[in-house]
Amino acid sequence: MKSISIVVPVYNEQENIENFYEEVVKCMQPLNYGFELIFVDDGSKDASAMLLDRLAQKDERVRALLLARNFGHQIALTCGLDYADGDAVITMDGDMQHPPEMLPMLIGKWEEGYEVVQTVRLTTEGVSWTKTAASNMYYKIINWLSTVHIQEGGSDFRLMDKKVVSSFRRFRERARFIRGMIGEIGYKQINVEFVAPKRFAGRSKFSLNKMLHFALDGITAYSKLPLRFAFYIGLICGLLSLLVTLHVVYIRLFTGEAVPGWATISASILLLGGLQLAGLGIIGEYVGRIFEEVKQRPLYLVSTELKKQRIFDNKAY
Ligand code: UDP
Ligand code: MG
Repeated sequence: MKSISIVVPVYNEQENIENFYEEVVKCMQPLNYGFELIFVDDGSKDASAMLLDRLAQKDERVRALLLARNFGHQIALTCGLDYADGDAVITMDGDMQHPPEMLPMLIGKWEEGYEVVQTVRLTTEGVSWTKTAASNMYYKIINWLSTVHIQEGGSDFRLMDKKVVSSFRRFRERARFIRGMIGEIGYKQINVEFVAPKRFAGRSKFSLNKMLHFALDGITAYSKLPLRFAFYIGLICGLLSLLVTLHVVYIRLFTGEAVPGWATISASILLLGGLQLAGLGIIGEYVGRIFEEVKQRPLYLVSTELKKQRIFDNKAY
């Protein structure tokens, strides 16, 4: 029998865990596959870990990895992918926004021979139009800047064959944008569309700050264009100032007038100063990331692994 691992990062999801577990089991039970559910608790401060422990003791198909602190969604996913050993691995959120009813279909596509089954969010119910517009615009920008195509609305709900997972494990960069990495890895991929329902309970765990960081990681990880951009702007400003200088010299020499206007000068100094700072900022973004990468720190730290303790259970042996 083939086996499927389902990896679920959770951060303060105490209202969702039990319902999510029930729904996944309901969808997976009738299928002819062995499965394991790997929860990665991303440093939750609520009762999530306790609930996960309870599930793990009750059902030996459930395992939970408790991270030492909050490492963020993408790193939690990575941790789960490192520990999963099914023939196929599915990653999904624990808040029911990635509908468990789609699991049989994803597995069906895998059986057809696809090695990555990527879901694409058409819309999300109950999300403000500003967030949708920002997200659409972000995908436009990132695709314009980046060398690999990143699917608009691509989500982290996907199935990967174990071959793909073992390739993915060799990519150890810290700042990660898994959607882009999967696109870059290749293999036989297919997209399937879905409409993401509202969260079952609780609030989104992505603060504006986390979202911005994630967005910037996506750009700097896939594109050197912003750096080149700073260079081009510098080049254009240099050429313009050369023209202006020539013009000023020409007036001085051939008309005998001095050029009035300190206002023009201070305005151009301010403009150039601003552009230089922007260029430095862009370089700083990349240098910061290089600094993070060269430290070669572990991506995550697992404090505890929860699974059924069978050692003292005489009945099982
Ligand atoms: N999550 C996580 N670490 C974080 C933030 C979120 O593991 O720092 C988990 C969260 O518990 C959920 C999934 O990642 O299972 C997606 O997060 P959320 O639903 O808050 O994001 P949204 O759907 O609003 O984009
Ligand atoms: Mg969600």
